[in-house]
Amino acid sequence: MTILLAVLVASLSAADPIRVQLTTGGHDHDLSFYSVLDDPAFAVRVNPHPIAFRGDLRRNTDVLVLYDMTDTTDEKQMANLRAFVESGRGIVVLHHALLDNKHWPWWYEEVVGGLYRDKESKFKHDILMDVKAVATHPVLTGIPANFRIEDEGYRLMRLSPTNTVLLQTQHPDADPPLAWISAYTKARVVVIQLGHGPTAHRDPNYRRLVRNAVRWVAGRSTAQ
Ligand SMILES: [Zn+2]
Repeated sequence: MTILLAVLVASLSAADPIRVQLTTGGHDHDLSFYSVLDDPAFAVRVNPHPIAFRGDLRRNTDVLVLYDMTDTTDEKQMANLRAFVESGRGIVVLHHALLDNKHWPWWYEEVVGGLYRDKESKFKHDILMDVKAVATHPVLTGIPANFRIEDEGYRLMRLSPTNTVLLQTQHPDADPPLAWISAYTKARVVVIQLGHGPTAHRDPNYRRLVRNAVRWVAGRSTAQ
């Protein structure tokens, strides 16, 4: 009876939409970004700062997608963000969210496995990167072994050697890891450095990568 019930629950949950909270704020971004999460399996709620983490995310969110660039300093919102992350649900960190929470690095950096540092790190727009898939992983389903993307690069970030790197480049204006899975143990966390503007947002490989990341951190199949 217990086993039958477990199977029933699993099959029901697989059909339910993945409830995504997309958090923006703190950095301009092109509206083309919102189409990246256009997936019939997702129910996306955009919740920007300053109210992004005002409520208890555990009640209504399976996956938190961070596309913000903000320090969360309100203590209640910090507690809500931390409670969500530590509850074992999924987190996808995109591009300038690598600059989030610099006042709080001892926690946020552990979750993300990296951090852009104001004084040391550099960025460069519109660089053409040759990208290589360096792992076999569900997040890379449908992504070619080698592809090229024009986007913004970050370099001289602090990056954890414990990350599982998925995509790499050798471009001199970007750190080699472009996408990775952090070693954080309490939740699935996928980090994608790419994603500045419309060129990336419309890139089919970028779009697939982000959708795969959301599906995988939600515990769903990335086959589409
Ligand atoms: Zn950017």
